[in-house]
Amino acid sequence: MSGVTFRSLMPLLAAGVLATSVMARPQSQEPSAASDAFRLTRVAEGVYHAVGTGVMPVGSNAVVIINEDDVVLVDSHSTPAAAEALQRQVRRLTTKPVRVVINTHFHWDHAHGNQVYGSGVEIIGHDFTRRMLASGASMRGRSYDMFIGGLPAQVEQLRTRIAQTPEGPDRATLQQQLVSQERYLDATRAVVPTPPTTVVRDRLVLTRGSREIHLRFLGRGHTGGDLVVYLPRERLVATGDLLTAGPAYLGDGYFADWLTTLDALRGLDFETVLPGHGDALTGKARIDHFQAYLRDFLAQVRRLHAEGLSAEEAARRIDLRSHAEHYPTIREAGILSHGVYRAYDELDGRTPDAPGPLPW
Ligand SMILES: [Zn+2]
Repeated sequence: MSGVTFRSLMPLLAAGVLATSVMARPQSQEPSAASDAFRLTRVAEGVYHAVGTGVMPVGSNAVVIINEDDVVLVDSHSTPAAAEALQRQVRRLTTKPVRVVINTHFHWDHAHGNQVYGSGVEIIGHDFTRRMLASGASMRGRSYDMFIGGLPAQVEQLRTRIAQTPEGPDRATLQQQLVSQERYLDATRAVVPTPPTTVVRDRLVLTRGSREIHLRFLGRGHTGGDLVVYLPRERLVATGDLLTAGPAYLGDGYFADWLTTLDALRGLDFETVLPGHGDALTGKARIDHFQAYLRDFLAQVRRLHAEGLSAEEAARRIDLRSHAEHYPTIREAGILSHGVYRAYDELDGRTPDAPGPLPW
C-alpha cells in the first residue's frame, strides 16, 4: 500500500476520539502506572473499557467483565504481548480467572492475542471469524498486508533515515521509534492464529449470577461475522468495529448489509457504547452519523465507478468533509483506498476472499 504507513493509519483508526458531542460521561478510572498498556475505565459495576495508552501497540480496545466467579473479556488485541499486557492489568483488578474471551471479529487487532489463553479458556466468535482464523486468512489479504505486511519495510526506512540523520535529538527520536517498531514486528511474528473454540451463528447468552451477557450477530457489516456483546441490565453494548468512535475501517465491509445491521443495533436498548476503537460513547447518535457517512461514501463510489475511474483515483476524489462536524479528524478530501477497493469489488461482482467451509 503505497504512501501509507502504520503510523499514519493509526489516526484513522482512532478517528473521532475528539468528537465530544456523544462521548460517554467520564466514569471512574483505575489508577494506572506509566508502563501500563491500557487505561481502564469503569463503565458499570464490574465492567471496564480498556483503551490503549500508546505505551505499546495493542491494536484495539477490550472490555473486561468481572462476574461473581470469573472474568469475560471482549477481544484479544494484535499480538500475544498485548494480550498478556491486558491480563497483567486484569490481575490487578481481580483474582478471579479469565474463563471466556469473545472475539468481535477476525481482524488481527482483535483476535491475534487469542493464543495466550490456555485450554481452560473458552474463545467465542462468529462462525465466519472461526473460519478466517482457522484457515489462516486472518494473516493475509489487503487489510493485513497494509497494516502488518508493511512493517518490515517501515523498519528498513527508519534504519535508512537514522543513518542519514546527524547525532542529536531527531536521531534519538528516530532510534526510539526503531526500537518500538522492531519490538512490534517481533511481536507480530509470534502470532499463531488461534480460532474460537465455540461458534455463534445467531445468538448466545452467558449467564453469570445476576449478569446476562448476550452475544448477538445482527448481520454482516465491518466483516462477515461481527458479534456485538450486549449487557441488557447495564444497558451497555460492545460493538467491536461495527460502530467505532471515528469512521470505521471499510476494507473488509459488506456495505449494503452494514446499513441494515446498524438499524438492528439501534433496536437494542442501550445507553453506553464501548467501541473497538476510540473512547466510550453515550446514546445512539453515532449510529446516525456513521450511517450518513456510509451512505455518502457509497453514493460517491457508485458515481465515480460509473464514470470509469480507477479505485485509486476514486479514493483521491471522494470527499467526506461534510461529516467533519461529527468526525473532526476528517480535514481533507480523499479516503483510504481499501474501502474503495472493497466497494468496487461489490459493484463488479467480485466475491471477497472467502475462507473455506468449516471442517465439520
Ligand atoms: Zn476490524
